[in-house]
Amino acid sequence: LLPIGAFIGLFIVGVVIWFSRRRLSPVGELEIAIQNREFLVHYQPIVELKTGRCIGGEALVRWRRPDGSLVRPDLFIPLAEETGLIMQITDQVIAIVVADLKKHSLTFRALHVAINVSAADIKTGRILPVVTRELERAGIEPQQIWLEATERGFMDIESARATIALARQLGHSVAIDDFGTGYSSLQYLQGLPLDALKIDKAFVDSIGRNTATSSVITHIIDMAKTLNLQIIAEGVENEVQVSFLRAHQVEFAQGWLFSKPLPVLEFVDFHRRSNGD
Ligand code: C2E
Ligand code: CA
Ligand code: CA
Ligand code: CA
Repeated sequence: LLPIGAFIGLFIVGVVIWFSRRRLSPVGELEIAIQNREFLVHYQPIVELKTGRCIGGEALVRWRRPDGSLVRPDLFIPLAEETGLIMQITDQVIAIVVADLKKHSLTFRALHVAINVSAADIKTGRILPVVTRELERAGIEPQQIWLEATERGFMDIESARATIALARQLGHSVAIDDFGTGYSSLQYLQGLPLDALKIDKAFVDSIGRNTATSSVITHIIDMAKTLNLQIIAEGVENEVQVSFLRAHQVEFAQGWLFSKPLPVLEFVDFHRRSNGD
């Protein structure tokens, strides 16, 4: 009788656990993922168009669920932003990136890694002490870390200007991400001491298509040049786009044509090959 009782007891406990996990809200699941540090980072190579060399990478977060599946960031970042949980995710991404930079310092020494920071990270400026502390602890130069944020991060122009200025003073470069998808104007950008502008994939897609947006990319490039910003085109998938970008003196690009985002070891390998070592 005892074994049967124990078996039934265990079964009930199992069912209760299963139900409680199933009933977790998406926010609850995200909170648990943060507690259990279920995030990892892939790096998408950024190449210099003139030489094809890999000059850096963008750190892109993924969520590995306990069942092993990888969740794309567009499926959880918006919720994380709404709830403020994003700041804890940013911190974990920074910790992972810094650990990778340290472990593979021979490769990364000559490269920069761009980290995506949220509007909340920029607005509060909290991101900078976090990055500085981690880098100091690991003995890594601040020049290796770039920060990118979308226009939403720069909407509160006063706090944006202060955070960007301090970031640059510390040695980081700062890029505006997904440029053109929001409502930034030239005038608005002029007020911000940025280093670089990333052209959103939507505009790169329009190259050679003769649609309403295909002339917009030329304006974006001209504008970035007027402001002396470095330009990085994202989502580059074919040679037609590369020719256009080269013809318009765009220096840097990332996209599936060169490489998808890669786990760190594969990124290190990609870098070696692209630099002919
Ligand atoms: P994003 O910053 O615009 O990142 C580029 C996205 O485009 C990445 O998607 C990348 O995998 C994808 N991509 C790159 N090249 C190509 C291409 O040639 N073709 C196509 N079809 N797609 C390409 P991913 O990794 O799914 O990231 C989606 C978005 O999630 C990112 O867009 C970024 O806004 C956000 N995100 C990713 N990691 C983080 C993070 O650590 N923190 C924050 N706050 N946001 C992040
Ligand atoms: Ca980005
Ligand atoms: Ca982007
Ligand atoms: Ca984008």
